[in-house]
Amino acid sequence: IIRMEAVNKWYGEFQVLTGIDLSVRQGERIVICGPSGSGKSTLIRCINRLETVQKGRIVVDGIDLTAGGKNVDAVRAEVGMVFQQFNLFPHLTILENCTLAPMRSRGMTKAQAEEVAMKYLTRVRIPEQAGKYPSQLSGGQQQRVAIARALCMAPKIMLFDEPTSALDPEMVKEVLDTMIALAEDGMTMLCVTHEMGFARSVADRVIFMAEGKIVEQAPPEEFFGNPKDERTRQFLGQIL
Ligand code: ATP
Ligand code: MG
Repeated sequence: IIRMEAVNKWYGEFQVLTGIDLSVRQGERIVICGPSGSGKSTLIRCINRLETVQKGRIVVDGIDLTAGGKNVDAVRAEVGMVFQQFNLFPHLTILENCTLAPMRSRGMTKAQAEEVAMKYLTRVRIPEQAGKYPSQLSGGQQQRVAIARALCMAPKIMLFDEPTSALDPEMVKEVLDTMIALAEDGMTMLCVTHEMGFARSVADRVIFMAEGKIVEQAPPEEFFGNPKDERTRQFLGQIL
C-alpha cells in the first residue's frame, strides 16, 4: 500500500533522508525508532505529503506523490496522522474537532459527521467528552480525540509520530491501548515510537533509522533478540 524507492531529501545543504527503500503491505504494522535527528518524523511526513522529496519515488495506495501536481488532497484523505502535540483546534469542541474535516472534504452532512464522530469517540472510550474543549481534557484524553478525529476520515493508513512522548506516564497506557485496538482491527500503521513494549507486541516489523538511512529492519523477535548493526545495539542498550 506504500512504496518508497530510492528516496532522498535535503533541507538546504543538509541531507535528511538517504536512499530510503520501504514497502508496506496493507494491514502491516511498522514501528520506526532511532536516535533524535535521524529523520524518523521526516520519513513518515513524506507519506502524507507534509514533506516533499527531491529524489526518488513515493506511491501511496496507487497515488504517486512524486509525480507532482494535485494529489495532496487525495493522499490526505487516505492517510491519517497523529502527532506528539495533539494539534487539536483549541477553539472547537471535541465533537467539532472530529466533524470538521469529514464535512469539508468528505461532503458529509453535520448529522452524518456527528454520528461518525460519536462512533469513534465511543471507540476511544470518551464519548462523554464530546461537548468539551480540548483544554478541559487530560493529555491522554486529547490524544485519544486526535486518534478518533483521524479515524473519522476513514483513512486506509495511520501515521503516529511519538504519540505518547508528550504524555504523563499514567496516560501512556490508555493511548497505547487505543493503538493496539486499532492494530487488531487490521489498520495499516506506521508508528514512530520508543515504546518498545508496544513494538514487541504489535509490530510486524521494526525499523531502525540513523543519519537519514534505514539501518536495519526485522520482525520484533529478531530485531530485539539479535540486532545486527552496532548502532542498533547501542541504541537498544540506551533505551531498554
Ligand atoms: P526526533 O527523535 O528528535 O523527533 P527525528 O528522527 O524525527 O528526530 P527529524 O525531525 O526527521 O528527526 O529531523 C531530521 C533532521 O532534519 C534533524 O537534524 C533536523 O534538525 C532536520 N530538520 C527537520 N526539519 C527541518 C526543517 N524544516 N528544516 C531544516 N532542517 C530540518
Ligand atoms: Mg521526530
